[in-house]
Amino acid sequence: MAECIFCKIAAKEIPSHIVWEDEKFMAFLDLRPVNPGHLLIIPKEHIDVVFDMPDGLYEGIFNTAKALSTPLQSAMGSTRIGMVVEGFGVPHAHIHLVPINGPHELDSSRAKPAAEEKLVETAKKIKAEIEKTEINQQ
Ligand SMILES: [Zn+2]
Repeated sequence: MAECIFCKIAAKEIPSHIVWEDEKFMAFLDLRPVNPGHLLIIPKEHIDVVFDMPDGLYEGIFNTAKALSTPLQSAMGSTRIGMVVEGFGVPHAHIHLVPINGPHELDSSRAKPAAEEKLVETAKKIKAEIEKTEINQQ
């Protein structure tokens, strides 16, 4: 979709802090993290609602979340990794994957813009951990 910000990110028309991608999915840092390392995972194809994703693609995005959770946790040293699907921000399916250290941290009212250099540094840390793992879809 021409006006969709996540489609533009997927097409690399807008720069983002990508930590991982394959043909179908992309994971990048949220510019307004609720905690450092807050990732967004999207299908490259424009689909508004996660639950409207066709079979295969639907499992694929959750398998991607599973595969990225371990390197994300290693990189950020958090107690757990939380996952949220709500879809109010951008009408293009996305999963929030967030390092958390306690309950109630998955609250979008905690989101604050992160400094560019902090995002660059965080993306580098996460990518280094992802490179140690084998993330294979399907
Ligand atoms: Zn889109």
